[in-house]
Order: sequence, then C-alpha cells, then structure tokens
Amino acid sequence: ELVNLNALLNFVLNRFDMIIKTNNANKNGQPLQIVRHILDEELWIDVDHDKVIQVLDNLLNNAVKYSPDGGVITVSLEKVKKRARITIRDQGLGIPEKDQKQVFNRFFRVDKSRSRAMGGTGLGLAISKEVIETFGGKIWVESKEGEGSTFRLELDYVDDDLLSSDKQWDED
Ligand code: ATP
Ligand code: MG
Repeated sequence: ELVNLNALLNFVLNRFDMIIKTNNANKNGQPLQIVRHILDEELWIDVDHDKVIQVLDNLLNNAVKYSPDGGVITVSLEKVKKRARITIRDQGLGIPEKDQKQVFNRFFRVDKSRSRAMGGTGLGLAISKEVIETFGGKIWVESKEGEGSTFRLELDYVDDDLLSSDKQWDED
C-alpha cells in the first residue's frame, strides 16, 4: 500500500496538537509544544498505513509522557541517503546509554518505579521496532541522560518514476 508519509505525519501531529490543547484546558502548567520540520517534497512509502500510525502514536506518546511542562517536541521528516527519516526529539529525562538498546525489548522500562507511575506496559517500542523492521526499515534512539531523547526511524521511499496511480493515502 503506497502511503504519503508527509500527509500521514501531519495527520498524526494534528491529532496530538488537539490532545495537547484539550489537556491543557484542564491544567494551568506550561503547555507542550510540537515543532514540525517536514520537507515540502512528497515522500511515498510502501507500508501498511495503520501500522505506521501505531508506531508514530507510540513514539509521540512517549515523547509527551516524558516531557517536562513547557517542553518542546521537535518532529522532522527529511531525506537521508535515499531513505525517508523521521526524527522525534524531546527535552525529557533522556535514557542512560546502557539502557538505549534495551528500551526496544518487550517489557523493558527505564527506572521501574518512575515508569510504573507513568502507566503503560513497556510494549510500545518493541512493537514499533517489529513493525518498522517488517517494512525493511530501522529505528533507534540517541540520548544523553538529562538532555532528552531523540528517536529516529528510516524507511525506503518509492522513487518518483515508480509511482503509479495506486496512491492510497493522499491529502485529506
Ligand atoms: P507502552 O508504550 O506499552 O504504553 P511504555 O511507554 O512504558 O509503555 P515503551 O514505549 O516500549 O513502553 O518504552 C519503554 C521504556 O523506554 C519506557 O518505559 C521508558 O522507560 C523508556 N522511554 C521510552 N521513550 C522515552 C522517552 N521519550 N524519554 C525517556 N524515556 C523513554
Ligand atoms: Mg510507549
């Protein structure tokens, strides 16, 4: 299934912007902010769009969950060496170096007590990794403890000349 990644990412981010706005109406802390850097050129990828939405939802949920009040979450879509790369950066607690590989394992959680208080099962990143690898992509994290986390994923995009009329996910 060919999916317009720019449109899909904007769709997911619009939903998060609405969630943040709604939540903030009930609190008086500093709202989170999502900053987008999405390239103008359309990138099409061959994936199951519901599954990619699930991955983006989880990465963004994590970024929101671990961000401080007033934190900025930066989301970008760019082309890197013939692949589409999405980056989700937050200003949260970060992930210690020794845990960075393990966060993609089932049920692994950094600092059990803190994570338990946050809710969740510890499956989100394991599922995300499985989905992305099924579509031939990769996902990884870069972080320094105390300086936020940066999750990145890359997927092959479909070359322009191979794009045909079976585009399934176009602008709303
Ligand atoms: P679930 O996604 O199943 O609701 P979860 O969010 O705890 O639960 P994962 O998404 O798999 O599970 O994340 C695993 C662990 O990695 C988290 O419990 C947390 O300790 C750490 N983690 C994930 N994302 C971040 C982030 N953006 N900043 C800091 N720690 C993170
Ligand atoms: Mg999660």
